[in-house]
Parts: sequence; structure tokens; C-alpha cells
Amino acid sequence: MGSRGSWRSATRVGARSSRIPPTPSSPSCQRAIAAFEPDAQLRLEEIGAALVAFTHELAPDVGAPDEVALEAEIDRIGPVSPREMDQLGKRVQQICPECGGPLWEVGLGEKKHWRCYLGHAVNAKNLLARADEQVETALWSAIRALHERAATWESMAHDAQDAGGGRVATDYSARAKEAREQAEIARRFMLDLLRRGR
Ligand SMILES: [Zn+2]
Repeated sequence: MGSRGSWRSATRVGARSSRIPPTPSSPSCQRAIAAFEPDAQLRLEEIGAALVAFTHELAPDVGAPDEVALEAEIDRIGPVSPREMDQLGKRVQQICPECGGPLWEVGLGEKKHWRCYLGHAVNAKNLLARADEQVETALWSAIRALHERAATWESMAHDAQDAGGGRVATDYSARAKEAREQAEIARRFMLDLLRRGR
């Protein structure tokens, strides 16, 4: 409490607010009282007896917020139903990085996090890392698909060449070349993306 002199403030919830406090004499006492919103203001000689009396009183049952209590319950009992998760927060489109199940957004501001009904809890950093992995996987798949497409066109161009060549073989070769070029553009884009992300 920090104030000196013949006055002290008590901040314990549930103290005797009905006491009529004498007026504190020093500005520091007044500031301390204003800052801590004391439940009681006592003379120095009264504090000892008051503290002893306070120890015999039950502390008020303020309880935890509902959402905190529910999360604690999920941690304790394990998987819960989606309906119970709806009480905790809103369902979002992201999926749980741990199990691939649906996620619910829980908490506000800096306390915001995401949970699945199996009990996995993830933060924004986890979700972003998961999204980066998915983007990378999807892009490499696209690049691989373009290479496979090019290989197929090349095979068809080779067959057409064996069959006499002509415009068809030329057309297939052009398509194969185009697919290879697209794959290379995508590969460079991917590498550039990875470089920027690091
Ligand atoms: Zn999960």
C-alpha cells in the first residue's frame, strides 16, 4: 500500500465498508486510498485487530468467467460435442493443425486462441505456420502437375513423330514446351515466395 503515517488502507474485498473513516491527513494517504479503493480505512492501532478479524471471514466466491470454466472443464474431461464448443466461441473455417478437425475461436485480443473439440489449443502463430505449409504443399503440387502434363505432351509428340510427324507432332511439342515453361515460372515464384517468408 505504500503510504506512511497514521493511516493505512486495506484492499481486501469484503472488509467492513460500513466503517466511517476519519479523514486522512497526508496527501500520500489520500492518493493511496484513491488508487486502491480500500474496503476499510483504519487507524494504525486498529490494523492488527482488523487483520485478525479478516482472517476469520470467508473470501468472496468471485468464480472464474464462464468461458474460462468451460475450457478448464474441456481440459479435464476431454473431447466435448460441437454444441458445447459453440458455447465457448464461434466456429471458424481453419482446421486444427494437430488433428484436422474443426476449430472454434476463443477469447479476445491478446488472449484470442483456437480450440478443437478434441482439446487441442493453438495460437495465431501455429495457424499461420500451418497455412504456410498448406500453401507450399499446394504450390509444389501444381508445379509437379505441370511437369507431368509436359511429360505427357512430350510422349504424345514422340509417338506422333514416329507415326510420320507433321502438324500434330509439332502441336504436341509446342504444348509440352508451354507446360515446361509454366512449370518453371511457378517454380521460380515458389522459390521467391519461400525466400521472402524467411
Ligand atoms: Zn485438434
